[in-house]
Amino acid sequence: MLVTHRGLSGPSMLQISSFWQPGDPLTINLLPERNTLEDLLSLRKQKPQSTVAQYLIQHLPKRFAQAFNELFGWNGPLQSYKNSDLEQISDALRQWTVKPAGTEGYRTAEVTLGGVDTRQLSSKTMAALEHPNLYFIGEVVDVTGHLGGHNFNWAWASGVAAGQSA
Ligand SMILES: Cc1cc2nc3c(=O)[nH]c(=O)nc-3n(C[C@H](O)[C@H](O)[C@H](O)COP(=O)(O)OP(=O)(O)OC[C@H]3O[C@@H](n4cnc5c(N)ncnc54)[C@H](O)[C@@H]3O)c2cc1C
Repeated sequence: MLVTHRGLSGPSMLQISSFWQPGDPLTINLLPERNTLEDLLSLRKQKPQSTVAQYLIQHLPKRFAQAFNELFGWNGPLQSYKNSDLEQISDALRQWTVKPAGTEGYRTAEVTLGGVDTRQLSSKTMAALEHPNLYFIGEVVDVTGHLGGHNFNWAWASGVAAGQSA
């Protein structure tokens, strides 16, 4: 995930945008590879004077960590936090909920949902079932690949299938 001057971006956001509907909230786990509660509990034990901000800076980009910490107002040493406070902090890191105002639409879209219904096409030749000399391939078909080259793969593979038949 990237935080840009326009909003959230990067591969994970591009991917989830294929599923997002206007008004939906997004729940983001900022540290999916960490057990944040265990981390905070053991840091409090080992270094009671350290802060949540110091923990965040270890695992997230510095400016983002500082801004996130400010947003939630986590000040003071870890020793001043009860277990239930650390649980809340951990939850905030694992379930950060944001409500996007919108997407950038076609201007920056990399792939589109919708298109020609696959049930109307031959899956072997990509010809329209009712018009055998009419072929549809790639992006114009209602097939949406995940990020990672699957849309190119679909465009090329369906193109080859159609080309061999036409
Ligand atoms: C910025 C960006 C990044 C992307 N990155 C990736 C990626 O990393 N991996 C991945 O798998 N996919 C990626 N995609 C998606 C991928 O590019 C498309 O899914 C794929 O190119 C679709 O191929 P296509 O041949 O169906 O359509 P297109 O590539 O859109 O080709 C359609 C062609 O038809 C032409 N055309 C349109 N109208 C007419 C007309 N009336 N007469 C004649 N010609 C016409 C257009 O000029 C165009 O050349 C990306 C897309 C974008 C926009």
